[in-house]
Amino acid sequence: MIKKYYLLSPGPTPVPENVLSAAANPIIHHRTPEFSDIFMEVTEGLKYVFETEQDVFVLTSSGTGAMEAAVCSTLNPGEKVITLSGGKFGERWGQICRSYGAEVREVILEWGEPFSKDQLAEELKANPETKAVFATLSETSSGTVYDIQGFGEVLAKSDAILVVDGISGLGATPCPVDGWKVDVMVAGSQKSFMIPPGLAYLSFSPKAWDLVEKSTLPKFYFDAKKYKKNLEKRTTPYTPAVSLIIQQKKALDIIKSVGLEKLFEHHRILGDATRAGVKAIGLELLSKSPGNILTAVKVPAGIDGLKLVKTMQGKYMAYIAGGQDPYKGKIFRIAHLGYMGGFDIITALTALEMTLSELGFDFERGSAVGAAEAILKENWE
Ligand SMILES: *Cc1c(COP(=O)(O)O)cnc(C)c1O
Repeated sequence: MIKKYYLLSPGPTPVPENVLSAAANPIIHHRTPEFSDIFMEVTEGLKYVFETEQDVFVLTSSGTGAMEAAVCSTLNPGEKVITLSGGKFGERWGQICRSYGAEVREVILEWGEPFSKDQLAEELKANPETKAVFATLSETSSGTVYDIQGFGEVLAKSDAILVVDGISGLGATPCPVDGWKVDVMVAGSQKSFMIPPGLAYLSFSPKAWDLVEKSTLPKFYFDAKKYKKNLEKRTTPYTPAVSLIIQQKKALDIIKSVGLEKLFEHHRILGDATRAGVKAIGLELLSKSPGNILTAVKVPAGIDGLKLVKTMQGKYMAYIAGGQDPYKGKIFRIAHLGYMGGFDIITALTALEMTLSELGFDFERGSAVGAAEAILKENWE
């Protein structure tokens, strides 16, 4: 058989055909009015997705670059911060902050456990000198969505800022940056933004920008002030990834034409279908607060989780993701993020059923697909 490649991972995600082909045009120079028009249209489109009135800066880096920019642009040496660490990416906030010499109170959560706004309020009370709280909208390693709205309410009453890694969640699950009082929001191009890896996006509230003005941590490429100064001149401080920005314009056209509300609903339907599918064959979710971005599923007892992922990817070319760090071999993750359709869920579940039966798991063949199909059919417009 021809082995067709199915990208079902939570980043990079599939890219629409007309967005792919947009990168095949001759490169235009970035210091031209022609490029500036495209660039400004992209930053306006990003503001729509961020749901903010503030500037959104475009960095040529992976998402982690914008996380680093969020840290080194706002803090001062030795300042106290709280990081919420419920998985690999929450943990990364702690690593970055420590690299810059911050004094980190790392709240370590079980993967998949929620964290309430009341718990955050208690943390702040116990650590009154906290300058910033670093949280994650959608923790991609565990498939968990956190209560950013609640965190925003708590932090709005304090002097500390709320910094959110929205790299996999923004654009797929609600998180209005201004409405929920997120002070610094970070996003990445290869998740819900429907383009290849290589760009990262970053916004600051006026409260956060005050800190940027005063921040003395060392920085150069990731200095937010440089991006603001250049955005006023309709450009970026350094050579931007021209082709990716042109692709982002095309992808934002799609995102705007569908509309954010419909996009959230789309992800909700794909999430429901995936959850119904895996539950129908007796599998359990890792997260107690699962998001509609990806579904993290526990590998059932008696099944080799590494072999499961290897079979899905190597034999069926269904590129779901495995577990990371302590959950390697213990979970697998099916994404339903960005440019994915209902039948991508069916593909993932079919490959999962074929793999599980090959590995000797006892279940009723076809029931995962059937359950997902019922949800898709019910919601299809
Ligand atoms: C993918 C991801 C990142 C890392 O982004 P890179 O683009 O690999 O640097 C960070 N946080 C979350 C939540 C992610 O999903």
